[in-house]
Amino acid sequence: SGTSLHQPFAVYQDDAQSVVLERIYLEADLRRAIDQRELEVYFQPQVAVATGAVVSAEALVRWPHPERGMISPGQFIPIAEQAGLISDLGMLVTSLTLEALQNLDTLQKAVPISINIASEHFLESTFEQEITRLLSSYPSHLTALIKLELTESTFLDDKALVNRVMSSLKNQGMKISLDDFGTGYSSLSYLFQLPIDQLKIDKSFVDALELDNRAQSILSHIIALAHDLDFEVVVEGVETQEQLNWVSASGADLIQGYFYYKPLPYKDFIDVL
Ligand code: C2E
Ligand code: CA
Ligand code: CA
Ligand code: CA
Repeated sequence: SGTSLHQPFAVYQDDAQSVVLERIYLEADLRRAIDQRELEVYFQPQVAVATGAVVSAEALVRWPHPERGMISPGQFIPIAEQAGLISDLGMLVTSLTLEALQNLDTLQKAVPISINIASEHFLESTFEQEITRLLSSYPSHLTALIKLELTESTFLDDKALVNRVMSSLKNQGMKISLDDFGTGYSSLSYLFQLPIDQLKIDKSFVDALELDNRAQSILSHIIALAHDLDFEVVVEGVETQEQLNWVSASGADLIQGYFYYKPLPYKDFIDVL
């Protein structure tokens, strides 16, 4: 099999030069994988607290590398960003998600699906046009099932521009979710300034519940505020029964975490719907 290309890494594993080489090979591999549409999308179910039912999901990219096995996005998203590949990757993920959604639709199992959009991609002048064009080759009712997950870094620069694009996407029927809330410089002001539909509270918050009993009170208050503003609230990273109890008591609408499901390949995702 084609291992010869990567032989140097096995030989000079700890060599600084090989780190650079490794990075160059990986970037070239990634470029090719995106071109050949070799990335896959997994779906992590989101469970409604009120009913325990799977009501939606997040699309999460995976890279089945021919020699290195499945590579997680934590390893290649930063490379895609630095190499200028993140927009192509984002469009590929969106396209693969729409294909999955169209299949689910024919089985009458379609549910809303969230797609992660990198700041750099969202802020490109052609973003809206590209998304609209892609959506136009799918049944129009699928548009309302697409939710775009954005992070706060998207809102640092030109708030007016971001607001305009978000409003326009929402007019087409798409939904907007603010991802990773509770990390970095989370500002409550975004909640008032932006036309978002959903707030996703980061796993780091769930982890804090165990260590700090004020965290639960803060969580409940953030969720109450979000509900006042008519946002749906997803809590991410729930792994244990204890965390589930806390998060349920805090008033969250949806839970996404290993306690219920890890991200699933499409064929397994169908079975939980
Ligand atoms: P994220 O958007 O915050 O996605 C949630 C991550 O948390 C996923 O990791 C998911 O598998 C993980 N997770 C969910 N529940 C639990 C849990 O209970 N315990 C633990 N330990 N982890 C949990 P994943 O799939 O490895 O993705 C990592 C990050 O990579 C994502 O974080 C996102 O920032 C980025 N990413 C993934 N797919 C895409 C994509 O298609 N496009 C872009 N631009 N970024 C992506
Ligand atoms: Ca996300
Ligand atoms: Ca997140
Ligand atoms: Ca995260």
